[in-house]
Amino acid sequence: MRDDNCLFCKIVGGDIPSNKLYEDELCYAFYDIAPQAPTHFLVIPKTHISGCNGVTEENSAVVAHIFEVIPRIAAAEGLAGGYRVVSNCGADAGQTVPHLHFHILGGRAMGWPPG
Ligand code: AMP
Ligand code: ZN
Repeated sequence: MRDDNCLFCKIVGGDIPSNKLYEDELCYAFYDIAPQAPTHFLVIPKTHISGCNGVTEENSAVVAHIFEVIPRIAAAEGLAGGYRVVSNCGADAGQTVPHLHFHILGGRAMGWPPG
């Protein structure tokens, strides 16, 4: 389902341009507009889910699908050295777009824990 006020729903619908990496019937992947690593892209469900807290028994299959797709895109992007998958959920985590998304960051070594 689309939320007409949602930035990422607008990207999926083509109303806002994006630098697309991959698309299928369930998900959409595009480069982050403000990259935090040499490679930084986002993978999102096409359907509107508010974030991790919006994942339910009814819609969780798309999350499994996204995690099948992520390694394929990461390999195509040359992230053989590894990568990080992040989903910020809620204010404390710094979520700014309330549509479920997975950041894939790679191309450099990363510290732990995150700030
Ligand atoms: P978060 O802060 O975890 O909710 O992640 C939202 C991400 O969306 C941030 O990394 C932003 O840089 C990214 N972002 C916001 N607007 C756009 C856009 N129009 N195209 C691509 N990425 C975007
Ligand atoms: Zn949305």
